[in-house]
Amino acid sequence: MSESIKENYRTLKSSLPKNVQLVAVSKTHSSHIVQEIYDEGQRVFGENKVQELVEKQEILPEDIQWHLIGHLQTNKVKYIVPFVYTIQSVDSAKILKEINKQAEKIGRKIKILLQVKIAEEDSKYGLSVDEAKELYKEIEENIFPFIIFSGLMGMATFTDDLEIVKREFSTLKHLFDELNLDQSAHTLSMGMSGDYETAIQCGANSVRVGSAIFGSR
Ligand SMILES: *Cc1c(COP(=O)(O)O)cnc(C)c1O
Repeated sequence: MSESIKENYRTLKSSLPKNVQLVAVSKTHSSHIVQEIYDEGQRVFGENKVQELVEKQEILPEDIQWHLIGHLQTNKVKYIVPFVYTIQSVDSAKILKEINKQAEKIGRKIKILLQVKIAEEDSKYGLSVDEAKELYKEIEENIFPFIIFSGLMGMATFTDDLEIVKREFSTLKHLFDELNLDQSAHTLSMGMSGDYETAIQCGANSVRVGSAIFGSR
């Protein structure tokens, strides 16, 4: 079982272009399994729930770079701000304000990605392209001094139709370019187990992969 997870990890890792970061999405899988992938050399992990993230962070090695990739509620920000490496799922001005506030309290700057709603279907969370531009403008004006803007994140529609997926990823790449973001300094986080190859073709430099490593949940 865990041998096949290690094998999945090695195969995936070696198939990714050098410039593409892998965020190993370990949600629902035990800390024991996370440790095994850590032992293979992986340091960047993603979780979508605050409580699970906090529990794993407490027992796993300190040099893991934890990414929050799921919707964040304002009352939970304070639990992750002391250690989180990047919050990828910033989907409102309200949550950004709260992250900045909690970060200021402890004097730690937090990396964030703006999550943009690109899926034509089943997408609950994320900023519209216009809202993302507006929020980016405020960030540029240094209204949130305790956040470090690090790029954009998006999820495509869950479908086998690659044309739809490509169109959605291209929308986000277009915004990335329009904001003049730089591939070497900023993250363009798109692509999951089912569509990371398409995401990379469309310009992703970071992919969030869970089940292709850890198996189905
Ligand atoms: C669960 C999740 C992933 C990983 O999904 P897989 O299909 O298991 O690779 C990526 N991004 C987000 C936001 C997720 O919630």
